[in-house]
Amino acid sequence: MNELNRMSRRALAALFCLVLASCGARGGTDSETSSAGRTAADSLKKKGASMHEKIIKSDAEWRATLTPEQFDVARKKGTERAFTGKYVKTKDEGVYVCACCGEELFSSSTKFESGTGWPSFFKPVAKEHVEEETDGTLGMTRTEVMCARCGAHLGHVFDDGPAPTGLRYCINSVSLDFKPTR
Ligand code: FE
Repeated sequence: MNELNRMSRRALAALFCLVLASCGARGGTDSETSSAGRTAADSLKKKGASMHEKIIKSDAEWRATLTPEQFDVARKKGTERAFTGKYVKTKDEGVYVCACCGEELFSSSTKFESGTGWPSFFKPVAKEHVEEETDGTLGMTRTEVMCARCGAHLGHVFDDGPAPTGLRYCINSVSLDFKPTR
């Protein structure tokens, strides 16, 4: 009887150890899962910070908030006449935002005098703030630059710009709004 008790105590102890071990293992798995979950959530949060919701509006809606010239250039891919834009010679410090949606597009620190008659920049504020598309109009192959958030036509990018990028973003003033640094 004593022997039987001893054996069942041992069996109980062994069972207890097994339960503990499996809890430990499960604990480990849980913490790995939650750690992976956090990582995924963090990366989503980071992406969220740089991602912008697309703005889609009808022509009528854009017409209601834009001047006729802004509408023609930004929404209908027009081009302002060289040397007529309000930001061609602007040298103040600040950021140029999309005239349609306010997205930050170009910093004054990347603006340079290209002599073309259009505001020129060697890079956008962030790559993901602009979209590029091949434009085959006017018998040329050019790369059109658009606002990534609302699709506004901004201008074109060429590979004859200055260092450090060698790029020239040739942008219509009318597609931009300048926000000076205060
Ligand atoms: Fe925009």
